[in-house]
Amino acid sequence: MITYRDRLRDVLLEDVPVQWNKKCIEYLETKEGVWVSFEDGTQEFCNILVGADRINSPNISIPKHLMDKANKIHGNVLARKTLGTKGDSTFMMIRLIPIKQEQNDEKNEPHYRATLVYSYTSELDNVESEKVKVDDNDPSSVIEHVKRLIRTLRPDCELTNLLLELWDLAPKTIPNDPIKMMRDIDPMSIKSWSSSRVVLLGDAAHAMSPILGLGANNAIQDVDKLSQALLKYTDDNISFIEEYDKEMLKRTSADVLKSRNDTFKISTPLGPFGVIIRDNILKVINVMINFYSFADNLIFKN
Ligand SMILES: Cc1cc2nc3c(=O)[nH]c(=O)nc-3n(C[C@H](O)[C@H](O)[C@H](O)COP(=O)(O)OP(=O)(O)OC[C@H]3O[C@@H](n4cnc5c(N)ncnc54)[C@H](O)[C@@H]3O)c2cc1C
Repeated sequence: MITYRDRLRDVLLEDVPVQWNKKCIEYLETKEGVWVSFEDGTQEFCNILVGADRINSPNISIPKHLMDKANKIHGNVLARKTLGTKGDSTFMMIRLIPIKQEQNDEKNEPHYRATLVYSYTSELDNVESEKVKVDDNDPSSVIEHVKRLIRTLRPDCELTNLLLELWDLAPKTIPNDPIKMMRDIDPMSIKSWSSSRVVLLGDAAHAMSPILGLGANNAIQDVDKLSQALLKYTDDNISFIEEYDKEMLKRTSADVLKSRNDTFKISTPLGPFGVIIRDNILKVINVMINFYSFADNLIFKN
């Protein structure tokens, strides 16, 4: 299913009384329902609590002047991927709606939330001279490693400088919250899954690699199935949650594993022959894009 995020957001918000800036910190399940506590000290009581609070992937916030630079290079798009010639790639996903201005920001400019990904072939870790101390629990050493690789593997150009600037924005210390890595969860691999008055949907239940674009699609299907199941709610019967869980676990586990498999496949080094084929395909695509854009300009100019 293809969705336009801004339109989807509008549709989701239609006639729904959302209370913004409320963080759920705790819940307590009783026989009759669930007490939910929020960071601001308030509490709510509900019959069923739906957990849709995702897995919490790390984000950075990009100031507008850097967004403008990035848009000049890539165009104003939501997701952008760049391929290096030596097997490395970058991926940047941007929320197009600005967030609150950063405090102490002298320029007082809007900021945009973004997710940055950098990947390189694991072969490079085996090269003795490249062995550097990287500690996964020390974000600054990871960021320095990524920047070193970008400097080594990418040509000296405007895009490389922009990538270095963007990686400089990533938080260099572990936040107060325990750090949660961007990872997938096969919901079938969790043994103690029990149905109760608390039910999960979306990434909270089955975060998956974004490679096949199935995460939000599954979250939407969860919502549809759960809404239908909720119609069967009565005070003393919550067995519909079990039925929902059963269908959701089976469907999404298959997609988590499919996405994981494809992620592993594309991270496997290509070998010299594969690299030649890949690079030539990309060059042909590039020529075609330039040709179409030239023809477009010619036609619309006249
Ligand atoms: C780079 C990238 C590209 C992707 N591309 C695609 C794609 O093309 N197609 C696709 O289908 N999927 C894609 N996905 C996956 C998709 O974004 C997720 O699967 C989807 O957003 C999950 O929706 P969700 O509602 O479960 O979680 P989210 O959209 O993450 O929403 C969770 C919400 O809960 C709030 N929250 C968290 N904790 C609390 C708390 N304690 N109290 C109150 N609120 C809280 C958060 O602020 C957030 O608003 C992509 C993901 C990434 C990272």
